[in-house]
Amino acid sequence: MSHAVSAHSAGLVSCHDCSLVSRMATVSPGSVAHCPRCAAPLHSRKPDSMARTWALLIAAAILYVPANLLPVSTVIWLGQGSPDTILSGVKAFFADGDALVAILLFVASVFVPLLKLLVLTWLALSVNRRWMWRPRDRTRSYRLVSIIGRWSMLDIFVISLLVALVDLDAIATIEAGAGAVCFGAVVILTMFAAESFDARLMWDVVEEDR
Ligand SMILES: [Zn+2]
Repeated sequence: MSHAVSAHSAGLVSCHDCSLVSRMATVSPGSVAHCPRCAAPLHSRKPDSMARTWALLIAAAILYVPANLLPVSTVIWLGQGSPDTILSGVKAFFADGDALVAILLFVASVFVPLLKLLVLTWLALSVNRRWMWRPRDRTRSYRLVSIIGRWSMLDIFVISLLVALVDLDAIATIEAGAGAVCFGAVVILTMFAAESFDARLMWDVVEEDR
């Protein structure tokens, strides 16, 4: 691998907002630098990246438990209803022969959120533990999680679709449960965690060790 010069090691910093590259040396230490073009504060790395990422990941991991254990919806069918968790919903769709809906619900609501949490935790650990292992593949994993992050609203979409489907039937009503609130929080916290993580930190570790 050829030795790459990062903007940070060359004393350059690019603006997060307008992408203008400035020289970091012109800024006196201790003061906050501002972009000469758009006046946004300049950071060569996202500020407090690891602390923020960990805080958001831990909060998301804690809420993942009630999101799966508490009822996300209560379908009231002719005045009678029992609360449904995500997994009991998956089971019910399977039992009804709607395997496709069951699989979609499981992948979007259980598997993908867990996968995002695990990958981000692994990437954050790799920076804290100063791993040298395959930074390129880890950067690819981060990019993948960010792309999935944009599709995170798929989970919310599935729930609203279910609500719409059930509401078509005049004799049934559906109420969102506490699990749905936790679930929404997991999706949003994970998205913020992915946004706070700075993939360049993985490369800083590799470059410093040279
Ligand atoms: Zn700027």
